[in-house]
Amino acid sequence: MKDALRFSNFVHFFERGGITAIFHALSREVIFVNNADLTNIRNRLSHVSFSDINDETMDYLIQKKLVVSSDADEKEDLEVLQKSILQHPCIDTLYLLLTNSCNFACTYCFFEGSYSGPKEKIMNMTKKMAISAVRQFAGFFKKACGYSDFYPYESSVVFYGGEPLINVDIFFATVEEVETLKESGVLPKNLAMNINTNGSLITREIATFCAKHNIEVDVSLDGYRSVHDACRVWRGGNNRGTFDDVMRGVAILKEVGAKTCISCTVSEKNVEELPAIFNWFLDGAGVCNVGFNPLLNSHQYKINDPSYSSKVAQAMIECFKIARERGIYEARMMRKVRAFVDGTIYDRDCCGCGKQVVILPNGRIGVCHAYSGTGEFFVNPDSDFDPFEHPFWKEWSRRSPLNMPKCYDCKALTICGGGCPHNADLNNGSIWEIDEGFCVHAKDTLTWLIWDLYDQAK
Ligand code: SF4
Ligand code: SF4
Ligand code: SF4
Repeated sequence: MKDALRFSNFVHFFERGGITAIFHALSREVIFVNNADLTNIRNRLSHVSFSDINDETMDYLIQKKLVVSSDADEKEDLEVLQKSILQHPCIDTLYLLLTNSCNFACTYCFFEGSYSGPKEKIMNMTKKMAISAVRQFAGFFKKACGYSDFYPYESSVVFYGGEPLINVDIFFATVEEVETLKESGVLPKNLAMNINTNGSLITREIATFCAKHNIEVDVSLDGYRSVHDACRVWRGGNNRGTFDDVMRGVAILKEVGAKTCISCTVSEKNVEELPAIFNWFLDGAGVCNVGFNPLLNSHQYKINDPSYSSKVAQAMIECFKIARERGIYEARMMRKVRAFVDGTIYDRDCCGCGKQVVILPNGRIGVCHAYSGTGEFFVNPDSDFDPFEHPFWKEWSRRSPLNMPKCYDCKALTICGGGCPHNADLNNGSIWEIDEGFCVHAKDTLTWLIWDLYDQAK
């Protein structure tokens, strides 16, 4: 009698045109068999027949743990992965909201949408507060460096708003402070700086400053005029589009050689044209660095199209194919591709999961800017504040699909990242719930990656 064997609990099957991919969600091992062989494997496992599948195939399945002994305790395999990911706060990112005001009134504005009631009065961060925030962050970063599982090459300071260039003098002053702390070794030399701007207030002086300090300027641009102007309009401007003003900013950035990235919000208005828009970013706007941000629900904006998530997933795959053909890096897809290809674990999509502090113009410190309006997961500034010991940061640092029982039997468990905890909270009542929109993206991406691997191998 042969030992009793079964498929691993982490195995998932993908079928296409008579071929089945047998895929292990933890190890990302995959083997392709035709359907006749799959039947023979199943017969062998259920002791119906021992003759129709060769030993080499069975040995391979066992060696890769796609097939295991029927009494195998696979919980241990999951526990090993859980132990390998961050389970405590490790701050490497500072989000500085220089102002809560903006000269645009985009229909889906995430910041405006963070308010469940009326917005507080307009407030700009003071220089004193911004400098103190950066120094406080330097202290958190130093503490993070004491952990053996900390990777300092990812550290960054992000200038955000509203529209951060409304408070441009404080932006300049804060960058100078960061540079001083880098020079003196308090912050690492490779700490990155980014500014997320709508692009309309960029001048030659600002662009040159950004180029000099190697600051990546992430300009919000949703595509060519017709799609961009459908959502991104001037505040108090009778729905006047902002396309020309944003493009003027992009042109200045390119002229002075500032590091420029297009940050494209994927909305119901542009999702169906996304591949064409991506080509236009590359050839028309002349910017090769592009990031796509799927739209999230907020207190003020709800996505109406029930097929929106599937459309985003398919559009992102099409854009990834274009990027691959043209040798361009698209971060959101690449994180999943890397996890699939080289076996790293993509354990969190969100920096808020233990890695960032967000500081509002009024000095309050929080986990995620999407809670700016309601104040949830924010605390008052306090000289003794320590995110490493605070329950908000401790809880968020564990928020990964690998710690979420609802995800344990998911095929995309180790390439997913878990999407946006705020979206999960808003839609389903807790950051520990599933963010269904991102699930569609993760699962569709995995299915595509598996068949792309098969096609490439053929
Ligand atoms: S530019 Fe950004 S902050 Fe301003 S309204 Fe649009 S989405 Fe909101
Ligand atoms: S919870 Fe969502 S909005 Fe907040 S930082 Fe994370 S991904 Fe961004
Ligand atoms: S969040 Fe969704 S796609 Fe990601 S692991 Fe969990 S169930 Fe799977």
